[in-house]
Amino acid sequence: MVNEVKMIAFGPVPSRRLGRSLGINNIPPKICTYSCIYCQLGRTPNMRVTREAFYKPEEVLQEVEKKVKEAKERREPIDYLTFVPDGEPTLDINLGKEIELLKSLGIKIAVITNASLIWKEDVRDDLSKADWVSLKIDALNNDLWRKINRAHGSLKLGKILEGISEFAHIFNSELATETMLVQDINDHAEELEKIADFIARPKPKKSYISIPTRPPAEKWVEPATEHTINIAYQLFSEKSIDVEYLIGYEGNAFAFTGNVEEDLLSITSVHPMREEGANEFLTKAKADWGIIEKLINEDKLIEVKYKNKKFYIRKLLDNKKRVRK
Ligand code: SF4
Repeated sequence: MVNEVKMIAFGPVPSRRLGRSLGINNIPPKICTYSCIYCQLGRTPNMRVTREAFYKPEEVLQEVEKKVKEAKERREPIDYLTFVPDGEPTLDINLGKEIELLKSLGIKIAVITNASLIWKEDVRDDLSKADWVSLKIDALNNDLWRKINRAHGSLKLGKILEGISEFAHIFNSELATETMLVQDINDHAEELEKIADFIARPKPKKSYISIPTRPPAEKWVEPATEHTINIAYQLFSEKSIDVEYLIGYEGNAFAFTGNVEEDLLSITSVHPMREEGANEFLTKAKADWGIIEKLINEDKLIEVKYKNKKFYIRKLLDNKKRVRK
């Protein structure tokens, strides 16, 4: 129990989405409503759907306060306090109370949830107290949803999707979505189009496309390819969704360092670059196309096509090395 208490707060750690984020683990490992095939925590031994109390809210506040104080002493800034536990944060019946208590620290609060309980009004109420909420949307097709997220038997995808729409309606702060793409499971154009159609309606501030970058629960899981990631990106963009991908590079994607190669790799780790865009960039940097060719030859960049246009995207690290460590 002592160890569990110690683990309630961790960091701050750099996060591309949230700047410097202090993590809050409000669920003991690993209790979840899902057992995703790509989960980096392995299969879920404790699948639950009933909300319960795990820690006292005052205890959570105390642990977070301690970490905030330590970070201040080291002069490390914190941009967000983020609920990102080893399980599903909304299973914690005290989530809303904890968010309210933590507000006294004057730091924005984020919750990263799989959205599986968002059909419950009390969960929506709790989440609406946060400043930034990310919802998982991996599949719109029921069979695919069962296959990838391996949801608790009592959950219904239709109700979850309704809950997401209702939440988007009442939530006044920043809404984000995250879609994990697994090769040959949810990465075909038909499903991606359905996901994009659905996400376009609640209009999240940002929509992230990600791939498994750490050893997954199931060894056979492979990340979607660069080609598919680009298709997903284009389909989302066509629906006016502000999309970015998270493919495992947490560097500062928007900092222009003056080093053309580094800048190209940073930009293409978040967005594919169109041929014209790449040309424009090189002209501004007073560099030539040889750099793109060099990065392609070095296996750092790859060229993909979509609707007869060429795009450049950062090459994923060797999948086998990354996923099958
Ligand atoms: S929802 Fe998150 S914690 Fe739960 S199984 Fe999926 S990836 Fe793991």
